[in-house]
Amino acid sequence: WSSTDFPWSGKVTEVLNSVFKLDGFRPLQHETINAVLSNEDVILIMPTGGGKSLCYQLPALVKSGVTLVISPLVSLMEDQLLALKALNVPAAMFSAASNKEEVNSIQDAMLNKNAKLKLLYVTPEKLAKSKRFMTKVQKMYGLGRLSLIAIDEVHCCSQWGHDFRPDYKFLGVLKGMFPDVPVLGLTATATSKITIDVQKMLRIQGCLVLKASFNRPNLYYEVRTKASSQEECLKELEELLKTRYCDQSGIIYTTSIKDCEQLMHELRKRKLRVGCYHANLEAKFRSEVHAKWLSGEHQAVVATIAFGLGIDKPDVRFVVHHSLSKSMENFYQESGRAGRDGLRAECILMYRLSDVFKLSSMVFTQQTGRQNLYNIVEYCLDAYRCRRAIIASHFDEVWKSQDCNAMCDHCCNLKERKEMIITPFCQAFYQLISNAAANDIKLTAQKLLDAWYGKGAVNLRVRSVPVPSFSRERGEAVLGHLLIKGYLQEDFHFTPYSTISYLKRGPKAAAAMSDKHNITMHISGKSVPT
Ligand code: ADP
Ligand code: ZN
Repeated sequence: WSSTDFPWSGKVTEVLNSVFKLDGFRPLQHETINAVLSNEDVILIMPTGGGKSLCYQLPALVKSGVTLVISPLVSLMEDQLLALKALNVPAAMFSAASNKEEVNSIQDAMLNKNAKLKLLYVTPEKLAKSKRFMTKVQKMYGLGRLSLIAIDEVHCCSQWGHDFRPDYKFLGVLKGMFPDVPVLGLTATATSKITIDVQKMLRIQGCLVLKASFNRPNLYYEVRTKASSQEECLKELEELLKTRYCDQSGIIYTTSIKDCEQLMHELRKRKLRVGCYHANLEAKFRSEVHAKWLSGEHQAVVATIAFGLGIDKPDVRFVVHHSLSKSMENFYQESGRAGRDGLRAECILMYRLSDVFKLSSMVFTQQTGRQNLYNIVEYCLDAYRCRRAIIASHFDEVWKSQDCNAMCDHCCNLKERKEMIITPFCQAFYQLISNAAANDIKLTAQKLLDAWYGKGAVNLRVRSVPVPSFSRERGEAVLGHLLIKGYLQEDFHFTPYSTISYLKRGPKAAAAMSDKHNITMHISGKSVPT
């Protein structure tokens, strides 16, 4: 597919150079463009920032007629429209915010063979809900003017993804309506389960799937256990920003708006130059913070995931996750904002079990949401594997152990690792849970751990359950492990103000009670306390 012998090859190079002002292709761009121009349906999987948009923008200019681009985020479409305008490429957007005049002029252009329009951006909602617009698309097709259908963030079709959107379901009708128009689906989400689901949804089963590597060799990945006291945790962050990342630029991600503001104030008290960024701030204020960060006035932005879209700062040297991400995809994307310039940058995740429950009660209604969360917990807890190998396997990529090049905390510091049998601890948890239930009490993870360590309410402790001989931190790891493996499970309780996560026996409880069944986890160090 990378051949330059296609009839359109000359034109492709010309458009690349003269319209887009680029000298060459990034990996997989040329392949995708050739496949699309051969009228193949394609799913292109490429990390954010890899250059997906060129893969439909360029064919749109090589083909006659109009390319329909379906994208869920109006702000991203606006960014693209501005960029295209600067390149003198005729493009338009049709959204809920379009006024009558715009709508009319777009609809005229769709049906007029002399119109210049090359790319028409539209939200999936608009396509699904506006019958009138859909009729126009059909007419445009009838006139032979629909050249390509590009679907951005195509993983939104799949229920398995981290970002399912109901309006994407409607896109399944497109292939039947426009059978000879190629469909190009684009995403940064790479598990094969989702790809297969997306192909089925769009009725392009078995189509060409092109997948770029997700490996970012210049990023160093590390997981740290977050200190239990806020004071210590802040001290660690201060130390990082003042010494290790002194004079360098970065992002600190938090989960909630409240945490975001608090953390910014605390860091400012420690004389750090930081700003904060979240969805509740006014647009004007947000762009000010962004600008101060770009100029270096702010060393770091303390942010929620609202900070991300459109960040194109090449020299981000560190991304610290002050709390867990919602999923591996989110983590990959957020941490991936570091080191776009190809130089070494660091991605540090501060992990604490309590953060898991904060997040899980936010995604409690979705089974897939919880599974996505548990996947990132596994990334944090796995003391056995290279962090990069875990990321690679999540994105269904082949990985060789030497590929890491000591660019993760695990490979940097190869400690002796042992297997610890944790079946008795699992049984201890079950006893504590049953005992509490007999008293009509449900246990949160913290209460369960308290009872295990002989702390908290006396009636929640059980004499026959021995207090563990290892640290609370390791105790938390044991509990986390049992949770993500299905030996424990969360049981949500709803109050008008919050959702509380309690623990109960998981789907694998029966197995855990059998004497022949061994549950193990890896720990570092030589002594194996059991
Ligand atoms: P994605 O949609 O995959 O996140 P974009 O299409 O937004 O990525 O592209 C990311 C950046 O890379 C943009 O600034 C774009 O101009 C740049 N880019 C894309 N293709 C090339 C190329 N072949 N050469 C140089 N820069 C490119
Ligand atoms: Zn490694």
